[in-house]
Amino acid sequence: MKKIKFYKRPIWKRYKIVMLAITLIKSYKIKYRIKINNHRCYAHPADKKIFIGIEVEDSIQDFLSTVMHEIAHIENFRNNKFFKYHNIGKNVKLTKQKMKDYKRFALRAEIYTDYVASKLMKKHFPEIPYRKGYTERNKKWFKTEILDQLIIKLRKILYKMCKNA
Ligand SMILES: [Zn+2]
Repeated sequence: MKKIKFYKRPIWKRYKIVMLAITLIKSYKIKYRIKINNHRCYAHPADKKIFIGIEVEDSIQDFLSTVMHEIAHIENFRNNKFFKYHNIGKNVKLTKQKMKDYKRFALRAEIYTDYVASKLMKKHFPEIPYRKGYTERNKKWFKTEILDQLIIKLRKILYKMCKNA
């Protein structure tokens, strides 16, 4: 019987690894929230804040790849990479142009973020392969499930802002 690789095991109740990830996030001077039973993970780079969801079936590899990916978003903002995409945060004003830029650069920015994240993974956890979030296969998923939904949400916020102005 083939032994299952340790990083394929569930992250659920692996407190030590979660604590290790938190220490790493803090070392990058990033604020964080970790949510259990949640599949959404995202970053607000302008606020230097990341949100990590953990689900029961997520592996150690899934979890650490996500953490590296969200750290990479903040680092990209700090390094001015895909700034128009990364300039998102509580105090960043939303405009129609911003939404246009956001959508336009989204996929390229995400693929670049995966690249930066894979380098971070190699640096901090060299024994664990980075699990890419954005491959050819899930580009369509990204567009229909994530981006289109997000744009609808952003549009609502923008509409409210215009109404109250
Ligand atoms: Zn991302």
